[in-house]
Amino acid sequence: MACLFCKIANKEIPAKIVLENDHAIAFHDVNPVAPTHVLVIPKKHLVSMHDATPADTALLGEVFMLARNAAETLSLGDKGYRIAVNTGEDAGQSVFHLHVHVLGGRQLAWPPG
Ligand code: 5GP
Ligand code: ZN
Repeated sequence: MACLFCKIANKEIPAKIVLENDHAIAFHDVNPVAPTHVLVIPKKHLVSMHDATPADTALLGEVFMLARNAAETLSLGDKGYRIAVNTGEDAGQSVFHLHVHVLGGRQLAWPPG
C-alpha cells in the first residue's frame, strides 16, 4: 500500500499521535499552519470525502468525534477551533486519504483563501 496516511495508520511511518481508536487516528500535522494543527483520518482508506458512501456514515461519525475529542485533549474547547476537510483539486487536497484538519490556538480568518 503506497498511501502515506495508510502507512501512518499502520504505524509504518511515525507520527505524533494525539488519540486513536479502532476506527480512526488523530496526529499532529508535520507542517502546522496554526499553533495546534491535528489531522484525523479513518483507518480505512477513503480517497476523499467524495469517496464516502452511505456505508461509511458511522465511520465518518467516528472521525468527527475523534476530531472533537482531540480538540478537547489539546485544550481548544474554550477558545474554539476549525474543522476543515479539503476535498479534491480545487480545495487544495494534497494527500488522497480522507483527513479532517483541526486548527486552533490563534484567531482564524474567514473566508479561507
Ligand atoms: P491537504 O492539503 O491534503 O488537505 O492536507 C494534507 C496535510 O498533510 C498537510 O497539512 C501536510 O502538512 C500534512 N502531511 C503531509 N505529509 C505528512 C506526513 O508525513 N506526516 C504528517 N503528520 N503530516 C503530513
Ligand atoms: Zn490510505
